[in-house]
Amino acid sequence: MYNLTDKIRVGVIGTGKLGAIHVKLAKDTPGAVLTGLYDVNSERSAQIASEHNVRAFESLKDLFDDVDACSIVTPTSTHYEVATQALGRGIHCFIEKPIATRVEEAVEIGRIAEEQKCVLQVGHVERFNPAFLALGTSQPDPLFIEAHRLAQFSPRASDVAVVLDLMIHDIDLVLALNRGEEPTEIRASGVSVVSDEIDIANARLEFANGCTANLTASRISRSSMRKMRLFARDSYIALDFAAPSIEIISISDDDPSTSHDGSMMLGEIEQGPKVRSIRYGKPVTKSVNAIAEELKGFVEAIKRGTPPPVTAAEGTSALRVAEMILGEIAASKPTIDLV
Ligand code: NAD
Repeated sequence: MYNLTDKIRVGVIGTGKLGAIHVKLAKDTPGAVLTGLYDVNSERSAQIASEHNVRAFESLKDLFDDVDACSIVTPTSTHYEVATQALGRGIHCFIEKPIATRVEEAVEIGRIAEEQKCVLQVGHVERFNPAFLALGTSQPDPLFIEAHRLAQFSPRASDVAVVLDLMIHDIDLVLALNRGEEPTEIRASGVSVVSDEIDIANARLEFANGCTANLTASRISRSSMRKMRLFARDSYIALDFAAPSIEIISISDDDPSTSHDGSMMLGEIEQGPKVRSIRYGKPVTKSVNAIAEELKGFVEAIKRGTPPPVTAAEGTSALRVAEMILGEIAASKPTIDLV
């Protein structure tokens, strides 16, 4: 148990592209102190340690001896090995998304975390994106969701399929929007174009509550895009995670002459005996760094002994759906062989 004034000693494991950002942000995370970092590539760890004036540990064991918590920012295929070692030592873990490459690994990670009474948070960072945060506590109950997540090719994450690398973000958001329910039906297709793994994929998820989500993810696009559109009864919400921005068009019974929330009248629609107003709103998004926010949530959960903002169960659930999508793709997949 920690006092609220205690500083949680944090270490960063893996200091590649994203790990270097974790190092920078961990230094400013309220309630935490960055003890040091470790990377199997000693040149890289020395370089990042010197840039940020922190200690580069020579081994994982040395880092574990000196921390209460760690961020695991290594390639996904190593999450299981690193996380089980950390949790075995009773160290709280923030694991970058996806939690692991296979559901069995994720379940085991969650089991050890529970046994060791460690906080385990998964880095589904889009939950902290200002556009998603702007939805607030209002549950839009979408009936149809369309998501596009497109990126240019980078060999960095090609150890896993695009479903585990990019689509997993939207899978997690769709599950959160459906209050954690998993889909009852999945259709998917995808192909390997550049790497040996699936590089472009589309999945259609159907939920028992009537919601359908159509997700497209590509890491072989010429330009990038991170957009989601939600269609609910009487509303349409467009989220742009890159901007970040949110636009809402809604139909309501409000008096067309009043504007209560800064939204703008677009017109009127006759529905039976009623004339209803159509409004357009663009809520202001908070100016926050999503990774800084998720790290803050992680440290707060450790100090307060509360569940983290994204739990092991949620990370496992997203991975389970991703696995089902990959299963569907494998069952239907033609492969483009460029050789
Ligand atoms: P990267 O290849 O740039 O860096 C990985 C680093 O880990 C390298 O420096 C490598 O030397 C080191 N490493 C490898 N095995 C290790 C081990 N066993 N112990 C210590 N260090 C080890 O990769 P990246 O792009 O920074 O991605 C890392 C993780 O972050 C991946 O799981 C990826 O899915 C995730 N990620 C998440 C987001 C997001 O939006 N949340 C974005 C990018 C990456």
